[in-house]
Amino acid sequence: MTDRSTTEQSAYLGQDEAARLKTILEGTRAGTWEWNVQTGETVFNERWAQIIGYTLEELQPISIETWLKFAHPDDLAESEQRLQAHFRGETDYYECEARMRHRNGHWVWVRDYGRLVSRTPEGDPEWVSGTHIDISAARQYQQQLEAVQAEQLETIERLEKMAATIPGVIYQFEMQPDGFMSFPYASAGIERIYGVSPEQVRKDASLIFDKIHPDDLQHVRDTIEASRASGGDWNCEYRVVVDGHVRWVFGQARPEFRDSGSILWHGAILDISAQKELEEKLRQIAITDELTGAANRRQFMELLSREYQRYRRNGPSYAVILFDFDWFKQVNDRFGHNAGDMVLRETTHLVQDSLRASDTFARIGGEEFAILLPDSDQDSAHHLAERLRQTLSEHSFEGPEQCIRGSITCGIAVSCPQDGNAKEIMLRADTALYAGKAAGRNRVMVYDRNLAPARRHAGD
Ligand code: GH3
Ligand code: MG
Ligand code: MG
Repeated sequence: MTDRSTTEQSAYLGQDEAARLKTILEGTRAGTWEWNVQTGETVFNERWAQIIGYTLEELQPISIETWLKFAHPDDLAESEQRLQAHFRGETDYYECEARMRHRNGHWVWVRDYGRLVSRTPEGDPEWVSGTHIDISAARQYQQQLEAVQAEQLETIERLEKMAATIPGVIYQFEMQPDGFMSFPYASAGIERIYGVSPEQVRKDASLIFDKIHPDDLQHVRDTIEASRASGGDWNCEYRVVVDGHVRWVFGQARPEFRDSGSILWHGAILDISAQKELEEKLRQIAITDELTGAANRRQFMELLSREYQRYRRNGPSYAVILFDFDWFKQVNDRFGHNAGDMVLRETTHLVQDSLRASDTFARIGGEEFAILLPDSDQDSAHHLAERLRQTLSEHSFEGPEQCIRGSITCGIAVSCPQDGNAKEIMLRADTALYAGKAAGRNRVMVYDRNLAPARRHAGD
């Protein structure tokens, strides 16, 4: 302490208590008021006037009317009621928030504290005193906060209503700098997709990751990491498994990089199972022969082409069996086209029952079929073709009136290192097939370079 401040301190402490309290009040920038309920006598300090933009001088003559004149009419009733409650001894203090008209026309919010300090000998209230504190700034801030919160609530409610109409969830996913993950917000739809409530995932993000299909989990993690590293949107299609039930979902989210160092993704996850199912159905339709349910020509050539590529990369040898019904025109002529269709369908079932899961059976033309046998040689293909020929030649197809008998002729070719493309094996199998037809039908013919070339190109 310097000499000067020590002197000031002593001077301050030397004052009487009333003067010291006045100094303290001035320090709080509080307006003060004293009011004699009985006589109407009223005293304000300078600050009381200053809060509403006046000097005390300008407000003269001062009475309780001065307060009634400047206070907002809507707040006076509340103030009066609280004052009476205090006078009746129901509250220790009189306390109220009220608006007062500022000289410039706007409203100033004051917090009004008061207390009854004396009563008349009859026990009626006499002197009351109190303070005014300007709380406009705090009030304004609070109102802004409430407005923002109301707006946010409204937005969330709106989004939740929207979310309820779509098969999905809207959410926020947060990753802390130390890698800790949580879902600060998730709409009710999360229960439909992940089987966990919004409250559960708020506490524990691992509940979500546990439900992701094990084959897709790494992909989900990689795409989140890519979004984190690049700042770009997260987009991911993956499967969710709940109680053994598999669902396809599509997730999309935008990262927000926060000052705290955490990343907050705002996003949505949609259930796309129905869409995926439809896609799969369309894909099946595109690769399937309508009449028999076998693969169609396009699918056969696609799979043959893949097998050829595999073979080129030192994969195992493979074989193709082509077969064509013998005298099928006669089947149609004698029994009708529908009966012919039935024969084609039943043939398909008979052949499919004899194949391995890795083999492909396709209807590549009217009554021409092809079988692709991966990882096969000439002998095993020949063996299979012979078995099929025999089965079909011994089979009685149930016609509308009588049984239909028939036979097939098979041509076989195996992969060859000299093949320049996938179609060459088809040409060889076709050559063998037509050699078999020429040799009398109902037989299996293996390609041989001495055979006469096919009259047309299979697989074109
Ligand atoms: P070949 O022993 O020489 O093969 O004699 P084919 O009578 O079978 O002669 P080809 O293979 O040239 O004729 C095939 C016939 O199969 C022609 C057509 O009427 C019939 N056919 C083609 N596609 C269908 C079909 O989808 N349903 C039915 N019912 N018949 C078909
Ligand atoms: Mg035929
Ligand atoms: Mg034919």
